[in-house]
Amino acid sequence: MVETTLVLLKPDCIAQKHSGEVISRFERAGLDIVGCKMLLLSDEVLAEHYAHVADRPFYPELRSFMQQSPVIALALNGEGAVKKVRDLMGPTDSRKAAKGTIRGDLGKDAMTNVVHGSDSPENAAIEVKRFFSDSELFEEELKR
Ligand code: ADP
Ligand code: MG
Repeated sequence: MVETTLVLLKPDCIAQKHSGEVISRFERAGLDIVGCKMLLLSDEVLAEHYAHVADRPFYPELRSFMQQSPVIALALNGEGAVKKVRDLMGPTDSRKAAKGTIRGDLGKDAMTNVVHGSDSPENAAIEVKRFFSDSELFEEELKR
């Protein structure tokens, strides 16, 4: 199934100048960039995006980490894009992520873990819409 998934390059990724490296990994896996922007995450967007962890004790720290700098949001399209991105990222805790994964190679810990990637096709659809309007997505134009 061809899918579009949402990726965020987190502030640690930007600060350490790993954006190119991370995007290269996605491109080498055959994924196409169909949307791309840099933005500061508002309290509102962040609360919505991380609603599933809003009750956890680490949420205030997560919010300040995610608002340290702008993030880069990418919409990536391709066959099985959701799982491909998750496999390339590795698990949440960078210290437990295998070498060869983005988090295993470039991440610090469970919070400071380089990238976000949607965890299911259902959430991918919701998250892509959260960050991109229809006119900011170029899947059709890129086929021309
Ligand atoms: P993932 O990003 O792997 O899908 P979750 O959706 O469970 O992970 O959590 C969202 C984000 O919250 C993580 O990427 C990470 O930045 C942060 N986080 C999750 N669990 C922890 C934790 N135990 N301690 C600190 N930060 C965490
Ligand atoms: Mg998640």
